[in-house]
Amino acid sequence: MDNNKLWQSVLAQMQLYISRANFATWFQNTEIIFKDNEKVVVSVPNAFSKEWLSNKYYKLILKTMREADNTIKELEFKINPQSLNNVKKSLVENEKINIEQLRFDEFKINKDTNLNPRYTFDSFVVGSFNELAHAAGLAVSESPGYTYNPLFIYGGVGLGKTHLIQSIGNKISSSYQKKKVKYMPSEKIVSGIVSAIRSNSMETFKASLTPIDVLIIDDIQFLSGKNKSQEEFFHVFNSLYEKNKQIILSSDRPPNAIPELEERLRSRFSGGITIDISLPDYETRLVILKTKLQEKNHKLPENILEYIATNVKKNIRELEGALNALLIYCKANNNILDVETTKRLLKGFVFSPFNVASYKKVVDSVARFYNLDEKSLFNQTRRKEIVRPRQVAMFLLRKELKYSFPAIARKFGGKDHTTVIYAYKKIQKESEENNKLTEELNLIKQRIYSG
Ligand code: ADP
Ligand code: MG
Repeated sequence: MDNNKLWQSVLAQMQLYISRANFATWFQNTEIIFKDNEKVVVSVPNAFSKEWLSNKYYKLILKTMREADNTIKELEFKINPQSLNNVKKSLVENEKINIEQLRFDEFKINKDTNLNPRYTFDSFVVGSFNELAHAAGLAVSESPGYTYNPLFIYGGVGLGKTHLIQSIGNKISSSYQKKKVKYMPSEKIVSGIVSAIRSNSMETFKASLTPIDVLIIDDIQFLSGKNKSQEEFFHVFNSLYEKNKQIILSSDRPPNAIPELEERLRSRFSGGITIDISLPDYETRLVILKTKLQEKNHKLPENILEYIATNVKKNIRELEGALNALLIYCKANNNILDVETTKRLLKGFVFSPFNVASYKKVVDSVARFYNLDEKSLFNQTRRKEIVRPRQVAMFLLRKELKYSFPAIARKFGGKDHTTVIYAYKKIQKESEENNKLTEELNLIKQRIYSG
C-alpha cells in the first residue's frame, strides 16, 4: 500500500471516531512524508496539531495503520507548514466540500419559515413503522387547520420526526402560497418567551405569532418544567387554535408522559391526534439505504447493503451515518469495498454487547425520563414524583437485569427487600392494567437499549 492510500484509510477510520468539526481541525493538511519498515512520519501544519494528535490520537492512528500494515511500529508527527501545498485530492478536501455543503444547506434554510427544503415527502420513506404518521401528515398538509389539530408526532431520536413535520410545512408552503408557515425548535420559542418577559414585550412577541397559519414546534418535550413559558405558550396555542390555524408538534414521548407539563397543555396537546413513529424493520432499512444511495448517485453491492440493514438498527440517522462513512471510504479507495472492510469500518455503528442493559443505564434512563437527577432517585422520600420513578427503576432492574430483590434493596440504601418486592409487584400489576405506564416502560426500555 502506498503512503497516500495508507493515510487515506487512516483518515476514513478517524472520521468514524471523531466529530466532523474535530476531524476538520486536526487532520486538515496532514500526510505521510516518510515511511520505512517500522516507522511512519506524518507531517502536520503546526505545533498545535502536533501536540493534539500525539496526545489524543497517537494510539488510535497507530492501531489503524497496523491493521493495514502490521510491520509499522512507530509513528512520529513532524511540523511542516509546506505540506499544505502537497495535499491534492485527499479526504480532507472532501471533508471541506462536505462542510461547505453543510453551510450551503444552512444557507438554504428559508428565512421566513425556518424550513429546510431538504425535508420533503418525496424523500421520506414510508413503512409500517411510520405509515400512520405519514398518512396523518399528508392529510394535514392537504387541508391545514381542518383535519387533525393539533397533529402530535412522537418517537425516539433519529426516527424522522423533524423530517416529517418539516415536509408538511414545505408542502403547505408550496401549495398554499398565501399561508404563513413557521417552524421552530421548542428551545427557540422558550427563549423568545423568556426574553419577551425580560424586556416586557410579551404583547409584541405574541403579535408576531398572530399572522401565522401553520405553527410547527419541534421537540416540545423541552417545555417540561418551564412553567412561565408554558403559561404563555398556552395563550399562543389557544389564539391560533381558535382561528383554525394548524398546529404541529413533535416530541420524544406522548403528551401524557411529558413530566412537569401543565394539565391544560397536556390536554390541548392530546386534543387532536397523537401518533408515534417506531423503529423501521429490516426490509424498510434496506429500502431507506437504497433511497439514500440513489439520492447521492452512488451504488454499493447488495451484500454490503444487507450487512448494514441487518446490523445497524438503532435509528435512521445511524443508518445514514454508516452509509456516509462507507461512501467516504469508497471514494478514497477506488470504490473497492468488501464485507470484511465494511465490518471493520462500521464497528461503531453495529449493535454490540455495549448496547445491553446495565445498572447504570437503567438508573440513567429512568432518571432522565422523569427529569430527575440521579441522586434524587435514591432519596428516602415519600414524594410521589420520586416514589414512582424509584419503583420503576427497581422494577426494571429486576425485570431486565434479573437482579435479586435483596441486591436491589442494597442499591437503594439497604431497604428491607420486601419494599422492593412490593414495588415490583405494583408496577407489574399496574402495567398490565394501565396503558400509560406500559408506554412509559417501553420508552424507558428503548433508551436503555439504544446505548
Ligand atoms: P428525529 O427528528 O426523529 O430525531 P430526523 O427527522 O432528524 O429524526 O431524522 C434523522 C435522519 O434520518 C434525517 O437525515 C432524515 O432525513 C432521515 N430520515 C428519517 N426518517 C426518514 C424516512 N422515513 N425516510 C428517509 N429518511 C429519513
Ligand atoms: Mg428532530
